[in-house]
Amino acid sequence: MANDPLAYLQEQLDELEAAGSAIHPRTLEGEQLPRARFDGRDVINLASNNYLGLAADPRLKRAASEAAASLGAGSGAVRTIAGTMSAHRELERRFAAFKGAEDALMFQSGFTSNAGTVAAILSKEDVIVSDELNHASIIDGARLSRAEIKVFPHKDAEAAGRLLEETARPGRHQLLITDGVFSMDGDIAPLPDLVEVAQRHGAIMMIDDAHASGVLGTNGKGTVSHFGLDPLQVDVQVGTLSKAIGVLGGFIAGRKHLIQWLVNRGRPFLFSTSATPADTAACIAALDVLESEPDRVERLWERTRFFKQGLQELGFDTGASETPITPVIAGEDRAAQDLSRLLFDEGVFTPPIVFPTVARGKARVRTIVTSEHTEEDLGQALDAFERVGRKLELI
Ligand code: PMP
Repeated sequence: MANDPLAYLQEQLDELEAAGSAIHPRTLEGEQLPRARFDGRDVINLASNNYLGLAADPRLKRAASEAAASLGAGSGAVRTIAGTMSAHRELERRFAAFKGAEDALMFQSGFTSNAGTVAAILSKEDVIVSDELNHASIIDGARLSRAEIKVFPHKDAEAAGRLLEETARPGRHQLLITDGVFSMDGDIAPLPDLVEVAQRHGAIMMIDDAHASGVLGTNGKGTVSHFGLDPLQVDVQVGTLSKAIGVLGGFIAGRKHLIQWLVNRGRPFLFSTSATPADTAACIAALDVLESEPDRVERLWERTRFFKQGLQELGFDTGASETPITPVIAGEDRAAQDLSRLLFDEGVFTPPIVFPTVARGKARVRTIVTSEHTEEDLGQALDAFERVGRKLELI
């Protein structure tokens, strides 16, 4: 038999399996709904990022199929060659207006929006000051930029200020960057304090609003709106089209020269094919829904309060969560895996989140409520949490 130079991967997979940390994604059979079928089982779905239920909304589906019928299945090129379609520009104008920014630019995902932008606006002489719990795509972008990376303790704006002070040099650009809503804990960045610190040091302020777009602020405009800040106080706003917007993609909103720079130097924009007409049209339809149905965001928060309070009254540790992302902390990795598995057996899907995604001893299941869950769905889920929590002696 031929020698397999990748055999070491199998050994490493065996180690992951033995440690109980190998990933085996469950398969969704059908649409992403509040009650959905995964791996042949009907469950209450607390696992998606489909905050507003738009992934399966009939208006988005219609917009996608009409765009595919009239404009084709694919764009056929990268944006800078022949792949800029009028639908892309329309979505960008709509997003710029939605965010109160001068202009906006689409990327293929939230991941490439973060990584492509950080890498494009900094270089090896510069420095990035980053919250310790920021998303992997920010970290990858920082590494690609070759800038010096300084990490501050979670949400500690004063520590961020000290790092900006210590790393300042003439001619050096400094980027202060934070997630708006942190994806594993569901807490909110202290944006007003960070903006103040960035302004004091002349640093660029960037926020990744992946979990805040469509969730926080007026009509889901994001963290800037949540805190009543002026959009121009945040130099770079990142949003994803893959979570509350319900489709796929990401975008950057900011000043015109930022957007024009990314057109020239944002590597995912330059070297990867642009979004399909169906995805783009569905995103435009999602913005129409967001603007015309503000009650959807209000309902998301009502459901969130109901479910979070229910978990807390049962005695679960929900950490620092302030948003529809509510972790239920179990402790060791095994405990989180058992909690997730027993809940699935009881008809509730909540994925386990273990080391290294979260610190050792802080393993958890992560729940995300959507505006489309009913009180009955959430009540049944709470009953299942109570039964399993008692069995595992978490409550
Ligand atoms: N930022 C954060 C905070 C995220 O949680 C995610 C998704 N996991 C992303 C960026 C990437 O977004 P997308 O899924 O659109 O690539």
